[in-house]
Amino acid sequence: MLDNLGNRFQEIFKKVRGNGVLNESNIKDALKEVRLALLEADVNYKVVKEFVGKVKEKAVGETVLKGINPAQQFIKIVHDELVELLGGTNARLTKANKPPTIIMLAGLQGAGKTTFAAKLAKFLKKKGEKPYLVGADIYRPAAMKQLQVLGESIGVGVFTIEGSQDAVKICEEGITKSKEEHATYIILDTAGRLHIDENLMDELKEIKKMARPQEILLVVDAMTGQDAVNVASKFNETLNIDGVVVTKLDGDARGGAALSIKAVSGKPIKFIGVGEKLEDIELFHPDRLASRILG
Ligand code: GDP
Repeated sequence: MLDNLGNRFQEIFKKVRGNGVLNESNIKDALKEVRLALLEADVNYKVVKEFVGKVKEKAVGETVLKGINPAQQFIKIVHDELVELLGGTNARLTKANKPPTIIMLAGLQGAGKTTFAAKLAKFLKKKGEKPYLVGADIYRPAAMKQLQVLGESIGVGVFTIEGSQDAVKICEEGITKSKEEHATYIILDTAGRLHIDENLMDELKEIKKMARPQEILLVVDAMTGQDAVNVASKFNETLNIDGVVVTKLDGDARGGAALSIKAVSGKPIKFIGVGEKLEDIELFHPDRLASRILG
């Protein structure tokens, strides 16, 4: 996960540690490399500029330069700023005062929404909850089938109306059915599209109005880099989402999306997807990802 970026930071920090003293000039050199490493990882350039500016401001302070271990302090500043950039605190799912909690998933086709729906159901089931899945991806009939197969494999109920072209109706009936089954969580897998368009947004707005979910999670694909960040901003403007799920952070994804999403869209990452298997889901911890990247 973000291995290239991690390796780059290792090299930068090694150089910083190797400097006998830390002064404005070698801090500047180190920051230049930090800037390049982040840009190469596909982090939004405005975000990079701001990040480097903040680190510089703190690192060029008297206490750092004259401190006992300036290199260590510099590394700590980068770490703390990275945690801040990733959202600071752990953002968690909102729970309904009284079950069921309704979670609405949105995202473009191929982002990993249906897979995430099943991953989340499995995750919640393991915590002793009773999740229920509702398949309303009416534009991709295979998605409904896929959800049914996944639901069966984890022993979670799935509601869908095959052949239906009415996503709002599927969600409405799905919620009724889930309540009859005493589900504690209802996960709505909505339709995706290849690109954002008005019809998709209208449909999602309708579902939101009817379902009044506690959480709207947007699923984005880390491999699409800056696009993922733009998608998050657009969906947030229209739907006022509650959080983002970044999938495919495994493999050699550049993953810069994960670093820019909070800063650009204003919404926190709540989960990450780290593989195709249903257990490849992690709650998002900004400090853990920062430590993973910085070593
Ligand atoms: P949807 O169109 O958004 O519902 O996307 P799908 O859930 O069908 O996922 C699209 C593809 O991405 C599938 O081949 C999934 O196995 C794959 N996928 C989903 N999440 C992850 C992930 O976290 N890591 C990897 N490597 N693949 C994933």
